[in-house]
Amino acid sequence: MKIAILSRNKNLYSTRRLVEAAQARGHEVEVIDTLRCYMNITSERPSMHYKGEDLVGFDAVIPRIGASITFYGTAVLRQFEVMGLHPLNDSIAIKRARDKLRSLQLLARKGVGMPATGFARNPDDIDDVLDMVGGAPVVIKLLEGTQGIGVVLAETKKAAESVIQAFMGLNANIMVQEFIKEAGGADIRCLVIGDRVVAAMKRQGPEGEFRSNLHRGGSAKVIKITPDERAAAVAAAKAMGLQVCGVDMLRSKRGPLIMEVNSSPGLKGIESASGKDIAGLIIQHLEKASSKPRAKKPRL
Ligand code: ADP
Repeated sequence: MKIAILSRNKNLYSTRRLVEAAQARGHEVEVIDTLRCYMNITSERPSMHYKGEDLVGFDAVIPRIGASITFYGTAVLRQFEVMGLHPLNDSIAIKRARDKLRSLQLLARKGVGMPATGFARNPDDIDDVLDMVGGAPVVIKLLEGTQGIGVVLAETKKAAESVIQAFMGLNANIMVQEFIKEAGGADIRCLVIGDRVVAAMKRQGPEGEFRSNLHRGGSAKVIKITPDERAAAVAAAKAMGLQVCGVDMLRSKRGPLIMEVNSSPGLKGIESASGKDIAGLIIQHLEKASSKPRAKKPRL
């Protein structure tokens, strides 16, 4: 196959590993800077241009689209889909996953467990929303945040009210969530490929930190997950329509609770924790998926 990897930087660990894995399996692969793609959106012959060149002959595309360039990145990916390339994850699914609230609404519809979550716009409704999720302590999340930035624990009702008021005053979209104390500052990242969890790790925040993000100083180690956790991860991936994703969940007294689904999961943490060739498994999955006929008109 000839594979395009959409990535801002070919030196990033995940991008490098995918290139290595594709080459090791005999594929031709090119890293393409998403923001240097420009396109001709015509009905006769839609095309993609890159640094003055016409991109032709590709069979498949691996999107590694950062949250900050979701709009442009998914437009580029859609164009590739129209041109008949097979995407590892399709543009619609990535768009769904990038919206934390939309994701939870989709997961809820499929009966996937999640922390009680409220969403409101008007400061007059704060009290009710706090009651709805079971009262303080609560976690308040900026919908636009990533890597744990914009995730706040409010221990008391007073604190929660003032944080929510402050965010609302800035016109920020936030959700209010039940705090899962028994998770103990840890979460579980399951790496799903197709309909299988291929690796899982437990991320633990530093002492005194309830957020377990590796970017916030958390540490990761491989973990054995329960059948319930495995089923929840696969159900979450399926509900989002993602072929490859990182599903983040909390261990609670009432079982696994999904927090979010990451459509461009980082490979470094999970490969070093598990010792597995995840990049290789992803390429293998892409080979299998690409060999199946694609819909004539992809859903955009
Ligand atoms: P981000 O997308 O910025 O990583 P998350 O929603 O994943 O934001 O939250 C960051 C971290 O905070 C999680 O990995 C988890 O450790 C912790 N956390 C998030 N929500 C809750 C919650 N409802 N209860 C307990 N801990 C939480």
